[in-house]
Amino acid sequence: MLSYRHSFHAGNFADVLKHLIEVEILEYLARKDKPYVYIDTHAAAGLYQLDSLEAGKNREYETGIAPLLEANWPEVQSYLDVVRACQELADEPLYPGSPWFAMHMMREDDRAFLFELHPRDLALLEDLTYRDRRVRVNGEDGFAGLISLLPPTLKRGLILMDPPYEIKTDYQQVVKTLVAAHRRFATGTYALWYPVVDRSRINELERAFVASGIANIQLFELGIEADRDGRGMTSSGMLVINPPYVLMERMKALLPRLADLLGRDGQGCWRAVELVGENG
Ligand code: SAM
Repeated sequence: MLSYRHSFHAGNFADVLKHLIEVEILEYLARKDKPYVYIDTHAAAGLYQLDSLEAGKNREYETGIAPLLEANWPEVQSYLDVVRACQELADEPLYPGSPWFAMHMMREDDRAFLFELHPRDLALLEDLTYRDRRVRVNGEDGFAGLISLLPPTLKRGLILMDPPYEIKTDYQQVVKTLVAAHRRFATGTYALWYPVVDRSRINELERAFVASGIANIQLFELGIEADRDGRGMTSSGMLVINPPYVLMERMKALLPRLADLLGRDGQGCWRAVELVGENG
């Protein structure tokens, strides 16, 4: 039984890191004329109302997208442009989900495959996408669904994997699935989101990727507080396989500023690490 609903967390500091990196990668893929495929294994609803009861519960966007929109740094203009384009859709405050970012940035020949298991979020996602012939939505398990699509017909692409980690085996499942996916599509770019709730789990995740045989892996983390094991998410990260060559430099410049802007009482923290080099 799935209980996670992304609407409670839309626009929080974890979304900022995830969607900023998603935008960086999609922008990089669009530098070439050749079409790409976007696969979102855990897509959720695709669009969120920030004045809804769910988002209003903890108002997580107030320590995420809200201060960044206010700061309006030119260095994150592409990300903020998509958020603003989404907000222009209605009078009430909106925040885009990962599929919305992709649909806004994709060109005519690019294609998207979106997986979502929760029936309510699946229905919302279907409503959002049914008119867009570039997009296919699937209500099946995103881990198995990803493997069934690989190797893709389009030879360039971003795979975003963003599970809720409600089931603790997700920490092993993400590694297993990404290793299997990479075997079928070694040149794709893969971005895996993870929460830092218990640092030992992340250390284990990093060791598993280092031992996986996959080359060219980088990791980026943004935290609003120092680790407090087991007492809620204090940081989150994106592990990127085959990142754009400019990503490390960009994130090293942005993450310290984001940590300063979003961190609680000056406790913001960040990491930008090359986990495995290009030659393994
Ligand atoms: N990627 C979205 C975004 O950034 O806007 C948020 C995704 S949310 C963190 C995770 C979603 O995965 C939830 O909506 C949940 O219902 C869904 N989910 C959980 N297990 C899944 C699975 N095995 N396959 C597909 N979706 C799943």
